[in-house]
Amino acid sequence: MSKVLIIEDEVAIADLEKDYLELSGFEVEIENDGTVGLNRALEEDFDMYILDLMLPGTDGFEICKKIREKKNTPVLMVSAKKDDIDKIRGLGLGADDYITKPFSPSELVARVKAHLARYERLIGSNAAENDIIEIRGLKIDKTARRVWVNGEEKQFTTKEFDLLTFLAQNPNHVFTKEELFSKIWDMESVGDIATVTVHIKKIREKIELSTSSPQYIETIWGVGYRFKV
Ligand code: CA
Repeated sequence: MSKVLIIEDEVAIADLEKDYLELSGFEVEIENDGTVGLNRALEEDFDMYILDLMLPGTDGFEICKKIREKKNTPVLMVSAKKDDIDKIRGLGLGADDYITKPFSPSELVARVKAHLARYERLIGSNAAENDIIEIRGLKIDKTARRVWVNGEEKQFTTKEFDLLTFLAQNPNHVFTKEELFSKIWDMESVGDIATVTVHIKKIREKIELSTSSPQYIETIWGVGYRFKV
């Protein structure tokens, strides 16, 4: 099921968008604050973003720019003024589409569907060139940032994916938690090595048959972790 994140501070509009998208079979999350929404957009994996322009915290311009620095996921921008659309285009933020308020919910749904279909084709057409790691039943597509365990796709947050991929690319190498933290999290991140432990736990829940006797990520007591091959 495709997941859509709506960042919109007008609750009635956000709820309307959500209702219509859910009726069309999408999984929808809403954030009303720009900054909270931006953090979720960067941390979690969504298939599409719907951004309002004027938001408390971080505005839609900035959110779009930040998403584009990291992801190719389609972005639909929603604006109350036609003039803003020229401004968005002029800024070259990389939004895929624009819609002005008021809009018909069915138009919104049609546009979301069209962008998701286009994006799926884009990912599919690049599949042959994708960089894939396969270790026993675990398959990591580094290009599409997707993971399968024994043929079943699992959802990972950005950092979980980065951490798993880093370990899998360096098999049998023991890394300390400090090393992993500095490799995966940038300097301004709030957190410490406990963050690493939490992420390892979450990754194991998704990839291991038994988290008490992991077959992929092994704990080296007093040192850190290594990916077993
Ligand atoms: Ca607004």
